Amino acid sequence: MNLILLGPPGAGKGTQAQEIAKKRGLVQLSTGEMLRSAAKAGTKDGLEAEALMAKGELVPDDVVVKIISERIEQPDCAGGFILDGFPRTLMQAAALDRMLAEKGNKLDAVIELKADFNRLVERIVGRYACAKCGQGYHDRFKRPKVRGVCDVCGSTEFSRRSDDNAETVTTRMMAYYRDTSPLIGYYFCKQTLRSVDGMASIGEVATSIDNVIAGLSR
Ligand code: ADP
Ligand code: ADP
Ligand code: ZN
Repeated sequence: MNLILLGPPGAGKGTQAQEIAKKRGLVQLSTGEMLRSAAKAGTKDGLEAEALMAKGELVPDDVVVKIISERIEQPDCAGGFILDGFPRTLMQAAALDRMLAEKGNKLDAVIELKADFNRLVERIVGRYACAKCGQGYHDRFKRPKVRGVCDVCGSTEFSRRSDDNAETVTTRMMAYYRDTSPLIGYYFCKQTLRSVDGMASIGEVATSIDNVIAGLSR
């Protein structure tokens, strides 16, 4: 099964993708994470991406398309994947269609997390993650069971993304509405779009997504 999670920054794509991947044995493909590791590794593309990400602007299509097309070729993706943060432009969506068609593969669903603009800022500024295993948390909405200790790996080190600040949020939202929201119409026309309420609790959103997946025939 190949899925896309679509929605503005803070909608809950990463949170839900992490859960679905674990539960269903799918590979989570987050272009944001891939670009952050490329930046950390100091590759040319990574450093160029880092400057754009810091401003909240999108990284050029050819850079992300190359990263995803190389990753999707890896054998572990043959069993299915969940894309989180890709595609973000119509050009990326068309490139993905070509990549899948070449492999005789297809998308099973594009799940849109519908979000209320006014509540996204608090989601983004309260976001943090385990520095060791990457498990996502939130200051108010998703705290570790034991304070200061990661539920998954027991680490006591956490990190925040440098782009998760109130200044970049507006630029990131504009990029979403300008460049990414047309994908809603694109996938609607292809009849792969399914929309769920991303403003419900994390558990409720997960249940809605489970229901969407249960309704897919394959
Ligand atoms: P995205 O990947 O779409 O940018 P995340 O999954 O990283 O969004 O979620 C943003 C922040 O909001 C995280 O700190 C996460 O723990 C929290 N969060 C995610 N889904 C919900 C939800 N349904 N209700 C409340 N907080 C949530
Ligand atoms: P969020 O979870 O808040 O939506 P991501 O981790 O998905 O953020 O992305 C962080 C940044 O990485 C984006 O603001 C953008 O600069 C860059 N990025 C990630 N995915 C893409 C993509 N598919 N196309 C262009 N830029 C991307
Ligand atoms: Zn951890």
